[in-house]
Amino acid sequence: MAFSKASVRDATVKGRRVLVRVDFNVPLKDGEVVDDTRIRAALPTLELLRERGAALVLASHLGRPGGEVKPELSLAPVGRRLSELLGVPVTQAPKVIGAEVDLAAGCLGPGEVLLLENTRFEPGETKNDPMLAGSLASLAQVYVNDAFGAAHRAHASTEGVARHLPGYAGLLLEREVTELSKVVEDPARPLVVVLGGAKVSDKVGVIDRFLEVADQILIGGAMCFSFFKAQGKEIGNSLYDEESVVAAREALAKAAASDCALTLPVDLVLGREFSAETERQELDGIEVPDGWMGLDVGPRTGALYAEAVAGAGTVLWNGPMGAFEMEPFAAGTRAVADAVAAAPGKTVVGGGDSVAAMVQFGLEEKVDWLSTGGGASLELLEGKKLPGVEALIDAKPTDREES
Ligand code: ADP
Ligand code: MG
Repeated sequence: MAFSKASVRDATVKGRRVLVRVDFNVPLKDGEVVDDTRIRAALPTLELLRERGAALVLASHLGRPGGEVKPELSLAPVGRRLSELLGVPVTQAPKVIGAEVDLAAGCLGPGEVLLLENTRFEPGETKNDPMLAGSLASLAQVYVNDAFGAAHRAHASTEGVARHLPGYAGLLLEREVTELSKVVEDPARPLVVVLGGAKVSDKVGVIDRFLEVADQILIGGAMCFSFFKAQGKEIGNSLYDEESVVAAREALAKAAASDCALTLPVDLVLGREFSAETERQELDGIEVPDGWMGLDVGPRTGALYAEAVAGAGTVLWNGPMGAFEMEPFAAGTRAVADAVAAAPGKTVVGGGDSVAAMVQFGLEEKVDWLSTGGGASLELLEGKKLPGVEALIDAKPTDREES
């Protein structure tokens, strides 16, 4: 299914002000941007709009200030980094809306860039307050949403604003939706899905969907302990939660009746506690003794999963295989990451921590598509409609033929 929303490429923007919702929710440390991946991911859309003579008003959230001004969550460091990347000045608005902001937006010439303050400084943002949406809309004549990572939220800057202005999809958002949709709608087979990370209950929707469309699901990370618990195995002090055990039990029942194989680890790496310095042992099996917790999949599991990935027509990986941030428990994640990087099939990696793992291992260039949106990518893969996408105007059939 082709992307059905109007693209920024088809918008008339010359001499107009365009409000662009970007996802500049980047990690900061000591007032500096630590990882500018998400800023760089927005550049193609921003550059296209500037080349076409638009004046840009940029909006993004950063962290969770909870509707009040938190100076440590100001977008100022992001504005500085963006200015370096674009090679032009970026004016920093003192607030999200208000008279000063109106004035700054009104002064913008073609190609100039104004960055609004953190949209979540406004309590109306997450409540999708129509007043805030209206004020944001009054800053521009055209709206572009390129914030894929926030598209699963119906907030004022992602959804409400598109009720007031014609909304177009940014290049990143369009590519994200297209790449992720292909995985579930028309994958080269076999479709192999590797799922890990912390909570099954967050990912139960994706497991459900993939039991219907994938050929094999491989489970790792803390998630596997909810499955083992559901099977009545000993899991020691491994991480699990009751809600996830219920979800895992349902997934196991559904898998038994489906054509999709659901594969669990066959060996583990254990630690005494969640720490890099903890006593460590490899367990050739999965029954965790008292006083220990599973912190990684073992080498046999790593090799098994790597082999499945190597034989896949399409691989989707979401969630690390272990506590990879700690070197003694990184090998399982590393094995999957290496296999994904070397896989001959189409490869897609989603999830903040899995993408971080690819970057940590220096393998990010070797993946066909690295999704910038954690929650949004999961919801899209589940088959849910994303409010930030739905609110955009539909593509005219003629738009598609021209582009
Ligand atoms: P993603 O962001 O890729 O979707 P998640 O956020 O679901 O992944 O999970 C990532 C986290 O899961 C990591 O911080 C990692 O340390 C943790 N994790 C993985 N395996 C285990 C485990 N066996 N025990 C505890 N934590 C784990
Ligand atoms: Mg995460």
